[in-house]
Amino acid sequence: MSESKKGLTSVSEIGEFALIDRLTANLPVYHKSTIKGVGDDAAVLQYGDKCQVITTDMLMEGIHFNLVYTPMKHLGYKAAIVNFSDIYAMNAMPRQLVVSIAVSQKFSVEALDEFFGGLRLACEEYQVDLVGGDTSASMTGFAISIAVIGEVDKENITYRSTAKENDLICVTGDLGAAYLGLQVLERENKIFADSKGGQPKLDEYNYVLQRQLKPEARKDIIDYFTKNDIVPTSMIDISDGLSSELLHICSQSDTGCNIYHQKIPIHQQSIAVAREFNMEPLICALNGGEDYELLFTVPLEKYNIILLRNDISIIGHITHKSEGCHLVTDLNQQIPIVAQGWNAYGEQK
Ligand code: ADP
Ligand code: MG
Repeated sequence: MSESKKGLTSVSEIGEFALIDRLTANLPVYHKSTIKGVGDDAAVLQYGDKCQVITTDMLMEGIHFNLVYTPMKHLGYKAAIVNFSDIYAMNAMPRQLVVSIAVSQKFSVEALDEFFGGLRLACEEYQVDLVGGDTSASMTGFAISIAVIGEVDKENITYRSTAKENDLICVTGDLGAAYLGLQVLERENKIFADSKGGQPKLDEYNYVLQRQLKPEARKDIIDYFTKNDIVPTSMIDISDGLSSELLHICSQSDTGCNIYHQKIPIHQQSIAVAREFNMEPLICALNGGEDYELLFTVPLEKYNIILLRNDISIIGHITHKSEGCHLVTDLNQQIPIVAQGWNAYGEQK
């Protein structure tokens, strides 16, 4: 617990989301072209019939990544992916990227080549143009700030705030693996530091490690929506954990929800690794971050078409606000959903 000094409030006391709300309260909008400002996965700007969406994310060494076990190339790749994911969460396609880096003296040119190698690879695979950025020295560590601009027709933009009662709640891929990959890396890092040597055996952790170190964004899902004329009623990407993201959708849409324990997709390896760490796999799926899957809602009549894809799970439905947000267990108990997602300020002193 942090204490306030001289009546000042520490950031950890209020948390990341309250901080953002406070800093961005009542921001004026001067231009008609600004359709949506703060509050979604990306801002929305309209010029003619086309809309642009814009998002930015910052990654700090020691807070978001540990270079002891994160290769620079993977870091470059992931830094781009996390931004693409926010663009897809608006049902848009990423088109351009700008990247700013601050670099301390401990980094060689070759290390930065590697970082850019990863960034370029992500841009190639997702067909995004790297069009600029900024480079600065840094006193300590490596800082990365990336912004991505995407494109979408106005009628296809998907916000967090437009889920409707009775809509189906859907999630892509599986959840919790990236968080468990991080636990494995942290454990091996500690064992390595304590024993000063030895090679970690990581083969049996392939899937969870790959989910942590080389995540992908769900372009395929947006392509699938387009091909099948599906426009979700709401959507968000899962960067902070399912619980936290679902609460964002429900609070912004003014609804409640029921999701079902049995329906939440968890990979076999995640279940095994969670057990090894004495964790409940469900808790990892609900609260673990960095999966970069999409959480979205669709009207009930899309049930049959969604069912055709085995990488989309229908995990529950939207309810009236008065019913609250609940997880229904195997024994039919309703447990209130609380946000315990990743909070960048949670552990800051
Ligand atoms: P995500 O997890 O999707 O990246 P965040 O929780 O970081 O989203 O941000 C939520 C919203 O708050 C977004 O609209 C984002 O643009 C906005 N936001 C976050 N930090 C700031 C800031 N320092 N100034 C202005 N807007 C911010
Ligand atoms: Mg997001």
